Amino acid sequence: MTRTVDLNADIGEVLLTEEVIAAKTAELGRRISEDYAGRQLTLVSVLKGSLPFMADLMRQIDLPLRIDLMEVSSYGGTATESSGLVRIIKDLSASIAGEDVLLVEDIIDTGLTLNYLIRYLKGKGPASLRICTLLDKPARRLVEIPVDYRGFEIPDQFVVGYGLDYGERYRNLRFVGVLRPEVYGEPQ
Ligand code: 5GP
Repeated sequence: MTRTVDLNADIGEVLLTEEVIAAKTAELGRRISEDYAGRQLTLVSVLKGSLPFMADLMRQIDLPLRIDLMEVSSYGGTATESSGLVRIIKDLSASIAGEDVLLVEDIIDTGLTLNYLIRYLKGKGPASLRICTLLDKPARRLVEIPVDYRGFEIPDQFVVGYGLDYGERYRNLRFVGVLRPEVYGEPQ
């Protein structure tokens, strides 16, 4: 039998409140608007985790822009570990050749997923490619990633909320938090 889930009660600690995330998103949007002033930008985001960040960030950028969405999944790995072997489930809808592209990510952990995506997108011939991530867990980095815009550095803990899931749940929380350890042991 599936237990009744109280999403908020499953959170042990709130790392980033809704207000703190909103302030940071506004700050990043301002910086991006200044850095790309006079240019047109293509935001590429990776489903599903980056969805809330992308939606909030794009509305803080004061430039003509278009968006595109990719979806990837990693082969193997576990619910809390990425394997680095990436499969493209949904590709870009339009060419990015000659475009200024900003890749919008939810979190960089080992960096393996992003490392693959950067090589893939560079192969499409953009005029420039920069990286924006809301969360960065540098403690677990396996490959070096040139992060141009970073929201928050967080400790080596598995976080959920604001798009990030555990077993597809918790994406709709408005904050970023750490799950109680008991939750990992329970059937989904
Ligand atoms: P990486 O390839 O950098 O190790 O992992 C990237 C992906 O793993 C992220 O896009 C995200 O889907 C997942 N991931 C890494 N760390 C976390 C975490 O703390 N919480 C959640 N929910 N997903 C994570």
